[in-house]
Amino acid sequence: MQYTSAGLTDRGRKRSANEDAFAISAENGIYVVCDGMGGAAAGEVASSLAVEEVLKHFNARTAEMTPSQAAEQAVREANDSIYTHAQRNSKLNGMGTTLVAMVTEENHAWILNVGDSRCYRLRAGNLEQITVDHSLVDEQVRSGRMKPDEAKRSPLRNVITRALGTQSSVTPDIFPLDTEPGDLFLLCSDGLTRELADDLLASMLANDIPIGQLCERLVGAANNAGGQDNITCIVIRAQG
Ligand code: CA
Repeated sequence: MQYTSAGLTDRGRKRSANEDAFAISAENGIYVVCDGMGGAAAGEVASSLAVEEVLKHFNARTAEMTPSQAAEQAVREANDSIYTHAQRNSKLNGMGTTLVAMVTEENHAWILNVGDSRCYRLRAGNLEQITVDHSLVDEQVRSGRMKPDEAKRSPLRNVITRALGTQSSVTPDIFPLDTEPGDLFLLCSDGLTRELADDLLASMLANDIPIGQLCERLVGAANNAGGQDNITCIVIRAQG
């Protein structure tokens, strides 16, 4: 299986800085999106440190590690780095970041997630959200204590229940998948998914255009819808 990919990040229309970061290492089969948080420039530090550290540790893995083990360890190492950095620098105290990553090997993929960035898969026209948000409102929706409509309007919708770098250790969710020719994967920050409903995402992703253009269209649509937050996406296409 071959994979082609493209990514794009944009400040959006309302924020003065971009606290999202992404990285693609196609030759190593790893793709990462992070959405940072924290005062001053701390969010930018956390997200850029996270993508760098995850790539560095993943790419330095030893042959006996599976891609999934290597990715999980890389996420833990990135958590250590951000956490230690924040402890040593009072201006960066409390910084953290979400992380959604995809690693591929032949026709296998693993999605790792911490926080409320997301991974979706479009297969045969059907869009499926692979990840589960680690957010307060999403947990309440899943347990039946809140309706999805209420969650969208809730003042607590920004509260995430798992992040990279805010605690001394972190456990990412890991979703193992098989990939098929034609599958399209989207990794993105919430600045995209809060502006574009899933059915719109599905119809945009179904367009048979180069994936670089697809990223531009997605970011453009999120900006046209308001661009309230930083917007980041990576699109990965599996080709037989
Ligand atoms: Ca965000």
